[in-house]
Amino acid sequence: MENYSRSLSRLTGESTLLYQEIARNVERTKGIKTINFGIGQPDLPTPKRIREEAKSALDKGFTAYTPALGLDELRSRVAEFLSQRYGDNIVKDEVAITPGAKTALFLAFLTYVNPGDEVILFDPSFYSYAEVVNLLGGKPVYVPIRFDSDRGFYVDVNDVVSRISSKTKMIVYNNPHNPTGMNFDPKLSEELVKISRERNIILLSDEIYDYFVYEGRFKSVLEEEWRNNVIYVNGFSKTFSMTGWRLGYIVARKEVIGKIGILASNIYTCPTSFAQKGALASFDAFDEVKEMIDLFRRRRDVMFSELSKVKDIKVYKSSGAFYMFPDFSSILRNTGLDSKGLAIKLIEDSGVITIPGEVFPERVGTNFLRLSFALGEEKIKEGVERMKIALEKLAG
Ligand code: PMP
Repeated sequence: MENYSRSLSRLTGESTLLYQEIARNVERTKGIKTINFGIGQPDLPTPKRIREEAKSALDKGFTAYTPALGLDELRSRVAEFLSQRYGDNIVKDEVAITPGAKTALFLAFLTYVNPGDEVILFDPSFYSYAEVVNLLGGKPVYVPIRFDSDRGFYVDVNDVVSRISSKTKMIVYNNPHNPTGMNFDPKLSEELVKISRERNIILLSDEIYDYFVYEGRFKSVLEEEWRNNVIYVNGFSKTFSMTGWRLGYIVARKEVIGKIGILASNIYTCPTSFAQKGALASFDAFDEVKEMIDLFRRRRDVMFSELSKVKDIKVYKSSGAFYMFPDFSSILRNTGLDSKGLAIKLIEDSGVITIPGEVFPERVGTNFLRLSFALGEEKIKEGVERMKIALEKLAG
């Protein structure tokens, strides 16, 4: 038997990437062309000006290590940008550039979570939160996301408060939300900042989808009194179609950023040098971002109208991110499948990739499949049609 670490044994290994692997196998063995609703990234190229900037940095030989917390000019630019956007006075020392938002989240957990600490997570939520909390010996405590046909998916703050104990170290908040596709009520951001401050709990706020908002006002925790206890995470991946560049950032009090710097220098030394140079140009690429969001809004409308025609599923029109999270409970009941079984069946029978709600990772998701609308309208139509036929066949 291999002598792996106890920490590693606490990981489930579950991830959305697994279903891409299954799909590749189906393509190879059955020759079916798949339609990928499992994808968690925009399908557009990175804006040209960002690519040009990175290329020019490479050509000029900008290929050495940078400071662990990232280039000063990029940290300052992020600070300035967020200050303008949210009417604050955020400074460079309150910003750390990281290799992707995922690493930013990992560092935030590593900074605070001790074995036995409780971390409040929404159910459902991005799979990586629970994995990392478990890795560190912490204990995820789940707040179920509720559903109401008028309001959509929502969080009752009383549910959060009732789960706070003397062991609660952190609350993880993600808005707009993966996987439900909700842009939550602005009051939720306000209340979570307030509760966590009053109860002396860290609020980790993952706002990676902040530009993907189709309904309602988006409220960042940075609009509140955040300095006491908030760790804010965002990144370039989704907004600027830069998932493979691996660039994210953290905003937190200066002392916290100092701790992050110690971790960073021991784990990865620094984010990629020329990628950071490219990211400097992203602040001039908001015309491209706006175009992308308009496109995604149209795709959302198409996916919603197509899914609404599928018998036996219930779908709520998402207001943020690029996911739809329909309820398949009636089909699951009739077929005796769980969401993983159904997702695999759909890949095998129709070549349509979805992500089973169970990946996110507790109970609420078990009745749902997550579908991304980050792909062309024709593909969305064809994918839902294929899914519809496969579901009808399953129903017998
Ligand atoms: N947070 C959430 C909620 C996400 O959905 C993702 C990507 N799927 C990330 C963080 C990770 O982003 P990055 O690619 O910048 O690591």
